[in-house]
Amino acid sequence: MRDNAVANPLILLGGTFDPVHHGHLRTAVDLFQAFSGRADIALMPAAQHRLREAEAAAPEDRLAMLALAVAHEPGLSVEPLEIQRGGTTYTVETLEILRQREGAQRSLIFAMGLDAWHSLSKWHRWLEIVQLAHIIVVCRPQGSSGEALNCGDALQANRTDLIDDLISTSHGKVLFLTLTQLEISSTRIRALLKQGLSPRYLLPDSVLAYIEKHQLYRCRNRDTDHQHT
Ligand code: NAP
Repeated sequence: MRDNAVANPLILLGGTFDPVHHGHLRTAVDLFQAFSGRADIALMPAAQHRLREAEAAAPEDRLAMLALAVAHEPGLSVEPLEIQRGGTTYTVETLEILRQREGAQRSLIFAMGLDAWHSLSKWHRWLEIVQLAHIIVVCRPQGSSGEALNCGDALQANRTDLIDDLISTSHGKVLFLTLTQLEISSTRIRALLKQGLSPRYLLPDSVLAYIEKHQLYRCRNRDTDHQHT
């Protein structure tokens, strides 16, 4: 159990963020508000990109765009740990490092979408995740429930409907939270840019300015052509 001196819960929102957009940011703000502002929300970009497209942005660009996106947003920050570590980063290993860094008492929360929840039982050492952190599964209002999932049974005893349970303890709970999510995708934004079309209003202007300045997502080979001015 935590005492009153323990810091706010740290909620981690993992993903590739290639690039970050208003869908990600709205989810982060919704989470912040669901916790009545009593949480720190950290967007945590994965080091390794699952895509192999030439136009995928380099880790340092994804990190820079995230920093711009959260610059003036209370409660939101960027967690660079996985980019700094590089290579394949398993969530359980990231959480081990964060648990060490943040101390035994701080509430750590890993937020994931329903798709990720569906695949959780295939993740590396997945059952250990709740020994290190809470899990929030972000669901859409009309989305399917997570009840029937293969990892649902194993974590049934961990389920709670109370946000306060995630604030008052450091790890071990699974909470399904229904949030309206904007229909914006990084894939669509990259496709627009690739065609020379504007993704304006889908992502922050500061992020779009960065993309334009560095000519990202335009089918260039980032290994030979990634030069910042
Ligand atoms: P991802 O590819 O970035 O996200 C998966 C999908 O969810 C994408 O279509 C993404 O859309 C969408 N999405 C993400 N945030 C959203 C939001 N706020 N609103 C609407 N759509 C959103 O990431 P991922 O590969 O699923 O990984 C998610 C996290 O789980 C990462 O931290 C990753 O390291 C972790 N993970 C760990 C393991 C393991 O430990 N073995 C395995 C898989 C994943 P966009 O393309 O628009 O972002």
